Amino acid sequence: MLKINQLHKSYPIGDSSLHVLKGIDLQVEEGEMVAIMGSSGSGKSTLLNIIGMLDEADSGDYILDGLPIKDLTEKKAAVYRNKFLGFIFQSFNLINYKNALENVALPLYYQGMKRKERQERAMFHLEKVGLADWANHLPKELSGGQNQRVAIARALAANPKLLLADEPTGALDTKTSYEIMAFIQKLNDEGKTILMVTHEEDIANMCKRIVRLRDGIIMEDKKIEQVRAEQYV
Ligand code: ADP
Ligand code: MG
Repeated sequence: MLKINQLHKSYPIGDSSLHVLKGIDLQVEEGEMVAIMGSSGSGKSTLLNIIGMLDEADSGDYILDGLPIKDLTEKKAAVYRNKFLGFIFQSFNLINYKNALENVALPLYYQGMKRKERQERAMFHLEKVGLADWANHLPKELSGGQNQRVAIARALAANPKLLLADEPTGALDTKTSYEIMAFIQKLNDEGKTILMVTHEEDIANMCKRIVRLRDGIIMEDKKIEQVRAEQYV
């Protein structure tokens, strides 16, 4: 699914620079569910953003679904991003003046899908996350857990091969976090490949593999026995 080789990334700060990723090697196969862990500032989001083609590495190779990701035009990058990748964020990143259905339908609009098909597809995915009755509600009228489910529906609407999540439970209470994790596990059971940043051990233990970052390198990468979330909800 993806293969990363000797990835480096620095950020300029004044006259010097901050070397955040110092030679990352990572391979993820189809159907995996991987947690990326590490303390705050260890480069988790930087790595996820590069994988998500939202940012570019300084050096190293990145191959996504057989495609080398390097020096792509902004337009090409956007096409691949739309086609391959779905994103979920800690803060949901929904558009606050659009209702749930419109939020889910938006990426389909950018794909050039016709209005009626967009609406049907968006509704299908809202139903899948259990929010069909909330389709006409704005984000401010929904709970945190509901909003994250809208965001998941939006991420899935374009049927991405890879789902990327940056602290998807970071803004949720424990019970709601486990509900969201139960849902993400179900997606993975159905075959979706998932890569998730978290700094919570209990959340990471609900994945199937944990990659730990420290000081810009991977200090540990191991498969684990997955803890099922549904037993806690
Ligand atoms: P994490 O997600 O693990 O908390 P990040 O990847 O967000 O870490 O950040 C890693 C380091 O890089 C931090 O020290 C952060 O301050 C710095 N950093 C992140 N993004 C930028 C940026 N756009 N410009 C400068 N420094 C950045
Ligand atoms: Mg982060």
